[in-house]
Amino acid sequence: MRTLLERVREGKVPPVLARAARAVGMEPSVACRRVADGRLVLFGDRLIGEGAPTRVNVNVGTSSVADSSGQSERCVEDEVKKARIAGELGDTITDLSMAGDLDEVRRRIHRAAGLPLTTIPIYQAVAENGIGSLEVDDILEVAKRQLHDACSLVLHAGFTREMLAALKGRTMPMVSKGGSMTLAHMIQGGGENPFYEHFDEFLGLLRREDAVLVLGNTLRSGCLVDWSSPRAKRSPEALEFELNRGLAARASVAGVQVVVEGLGGHIPPSSIMAAVRAFKRECPRPLFVAGPLPTDIAVGYDHVAAAIGSAMAAGAGADYICCITAAEHLALPTVEEVKEGIVSARIAAHVGDLMKYGLSEEERMMAVERSRRNWEAQFYLALDGGTAARRRHPPTQTECTMCGRFCALQIVEQYLGAGHGQREDAH
Ligand code: SF4
Repeated sequence: MRTLLERVREGKVPPVLARAARAVGMEPSVACRRVADGRLVLFGDRLIGEGAPTRVNVNVGTSSVADSSGQSERCVEDEVKKARIAGELGDTITDLSMAGDLDEVRRRIHRAAGLPLTTIPIYQAVAENGIGSLEVDDILEVAKRQLHDACSLVLHAGFTREMLAALKGRTMPMVSKGGSMTLAHMIQGGGENPFYEHFDEFLGLLRREDAVLVLGNTLRSGCLVDWSSPRAKRSPEALEFELNRGLAARASVAGVQVVVEGLGGHIPPSSIMAAVRAFKRECPRPLFVAGPLPTDIAVGYDHVAAAIGSAMAAGAGADYICCITAAEHLALPTVEEVKEGIVSARIAAHVGDLMKYGLSEEERMMAVERSRRNWEAQFYLALDGGTAARRRHPPTQTECTMCGRFCALQIVEQYLGAGHGQREDAH
């Protein structure tokens, strides 16, 4: 069977790719060329990468703590509720589950979201086998099961034993959960990173199912003081970037589409945009960023900090961002926190797209409706479908109570006339 990447390289235009291209206003022939070059990937029915809207991923998944407190079914139910919300507001979903019957939980989450699903094989392999007795065959076996359910896979292949020395001196040497499990397996067994050592076997599995490979950002910095630019020689970020870039090229040769994760975690705000531009210049593949958080001290409001960092990253060229919640670093998020996190990420993606592609029609329309004080139309245009706006300005309310009868818009309209300030190109 030829993979989608191989078919576009042969000059074919797969109908599923043509449909996805038209959905984002891209010529199918342009989309095929970009997919062939590795600048764009088709994941499920969504295009991610050059010329596509910035996409939002939502993480959900059961936690071993919630599960061990005897709340296992409630815990799964909550994750399914989060998945439903992700289905309404997100673009893709990642299942991070570590508790319960993981195959069943994954399928329930996938069904509830109805979005392209990513999984992380090391999570399920560790949850089912424990870190101590984990073998590479266990991870391969889990990967096969996950791929059978039409998932894309995150592989933590971008670091080797030799690279661990570069983590010395960091306050938090490694903050990636999948990375920490991979590291534990390496140290206990005295061997190499199994994802790196057996990369071709994983590629074979991905190719067979025509699945997307996501190369994990295992060595991301966990705090601002640990950040070093991928351009700094022998920094963890630089070493991972080089390794992932090489692995991505190998995947492309094997006919597997690739998304590269990078520049996630915590990065000083003055470095974010330059780092993303440099990354994309040297590796123009679809770039997924988790965060980055431009400050460490927004604890309890990390959805806001992440939205600021993600908007900067997206504006500089990142293609795919991740929902971060207010509970980040603190707890498994509630259903409501996940919703707020997705809306925050949606806003960041939109701001990024305004920076990449210019003003959208929605922005022009909102300006007109706001000048008309047409609340219903403003709700309709709102990024979250007007939910928060309706709560603050119920439909029964005819006026905005902020300035009441001293509403500036009303006063100016009274003296200058309705439509005085409206541009001719605003409809
Ligand atoms: S009352 Fe004040 S805040 Fe509300 S719409 Fe009018 S000018 Fe804006």
